[in-house]
Amino acid sequence: MNLQRWLAAAVVLVAAGCSTVPGPKGSEAADLVLYNGKILTVDGNFSIAQAVAIRGERFVAVGSNESVRAMAGSGTRQIDLRGRTVIPGLIDGHLHNAGGGPGVDLSKARSIAELLAAVEARAKRTPAGEPILSNADWHEAQLHEKRLPHRTELDRVAPRNPVVLIRGGHEFILNSAAFERWRITRDTKNPPGGEIGRDPDGNLNGELVDTARGLVKLPPPPKLTPEAIEAQMKLLNSVGLTGIRIPGGFQFGPDILTPYRMFQQLRREGRLTMRVNYLMRIYDFSSVEKVRATIQSWNVRPDEGDEWLRIGGMKTLVDGGFEGGHMREPYAEPYGRGGKFRGIEVVPPKNYIPVVQELNRLGWRVATHAVGDAAVDEVLAAYAAADRDRSIKGKRWTIEHFFIARPDHFPRVKALGIAVSAQDHLYLAAPSMAKYWGRARAEHVTPVRTFLDQGLLVGGGTDSPVIPYNPFWSMYHFITRDTISDGVYGADQAITREDALKLYTINNAKITFEDNAKGSIEKGKLADLVVLSADYLEVPVKQVEALKALATMVGGRFVYEDPTWR
Ligand SMILES: [Zn+2]
Repeated sequence: MNLQRWLAAAVVLVAAGCSTVPGPKGSEAADLVLYNGKILTVDGNFSIAQAVAIRGERFVAVGSNESVRAMAGSGTRQIDLRGRTVIPGLIDGHLHNAGGGPGVDLSKARSIAELLAAVEARAKRTPAGEPILSNADWHEAQLHEKRLPHRTELDRVAPRNPVVLIRGGHEFILNSAAFERWRITRDTKNPPGGEIGRDPDGNLNGELVDTARGLVKLPPPPKLTPEAIEAQMKLLNSVGLTGIRIPGGFQFGPDILTPYRMFQQLRREGRLTMRVNYLMRIYDFSSVEKVRATIQSWNVRPDEGDEWLRIGGMKTLVDGGFEGGHMREPYAEPYGRGGKFRGIEVVPPKNYIPVVQELNRLGWRVATHAVGDAAVDEVLAAYAAADRDRSIKGKRWTIEHFFIARPDHFPRVKALGIAVSAQDHLYLAAPSMAKYWGRARAEHVTPVRTFLDQGLLVGGGTDSPVIPYNPFWSMYHFITRDTISDGVYGADQAITREDALKLYTINNAKITFEDNAKGSIEKGKLADLVVLSADYLEVPVKQVEALKALATMVGGRFVYEDPTWR
């Protein structure tokens, strides 16, 4: 031991003033030390450290190279970060799954022609009459034409198969064979909470929005397996994610409970490579009794679990997505239909409010999908009604998405202690939003700067597979308000790099009441971190989008390592 290190170690011993202090010689030595880094701790002062020591699953020291390396014993593994930047493990606050699947992959299509070619290729190797489905992880804003394919275009490339393009979580696009298969005609009425898309002449254009998708009975999805979940976690780990909050439902799960039980199995078997906060979900709002019976049948308690897998509350919804968000003002023409269309009330207040009140009585924290300003009004009315029965303050109920905020929302949101789960939909879908809602309203979508200025707790996420799960794309968007295909929207809503990082770390940990255990790099917290390809705080802002995880650690164990990083 050189003199400098000996002195550092001596200082630690003296400062602690007793012999049980963790020291280099005893069994209390660190398992792993990372040093020579630029470690953005995201602690209360956003302080920057050089080194961390880890024992078991937790950080046991964070600080200077000298002070931390003094924790090393003869068996301690030491890694020289050579100046690399380290951030706390990233948490996506609203992620359904990583996308992909057995359907036609449209995520890489950049034009209508490429989309149709992908469908045509699948049709050529599919027996006539057999349905063709797509994966859900694509959006028309990624296409050069910035529009959906029309029914007749799908007919041209797949005349003999029913085609259902699944787009995000709110819309299907069908060809004529699919409309025939499920007996939907130009005379079929819109179901409550849904829309059947039509051309100006009344003919079907192919689109089924929100509950209208229920007119189609899709073949059962492939069975969810623990191995499929492991594969998804691997993808998420590779972009620096160490935690996700799943807002009701996971890919290919036949119901809400099966994926949760599978996550529990993976937890028991030590196979989880990330921390999962799992929200249960109400689909049927028709009666409070039904809701109560459904919840009872699950045999799941609110907030049960541990730091790997925890139940995080109950997901509900009131309105649609990009094409169905419920607004105070009509949609832009022609979607406003002469000033009449204001979006879709998927669950009306008369059903929603009593269910929310019942969930509160049963001890569940509620998270509600609300896109439009009128939808937010309905959520606030319901949360206030629940609060009158039994206070919800301090329980961090959430509004998921909250695209359109109005000044009169904020006092009500603050009075109820509601947190905001915000995502970067605008990054991908800005041109669609401008088309449906007008440019001025689209510029205002997800006003994170205003939320923070109002003192609200805001978590960040992607809503993957609706938006790609890369958190660096999302942070880049929040920092710049830049979009994939349409330039900057609402520059006044840009936030700092520090705040964007907090959205994806400590703030999401707060939303799930886990900020005492994770969300920052601090002594005693779980050792979740990411080694980055470049300096997050200093690279030119455009390069934030291109940042990569070189290594991702969860609970002191590397779950992802880029082969080139050491
Ligand atoms: Zn979602």
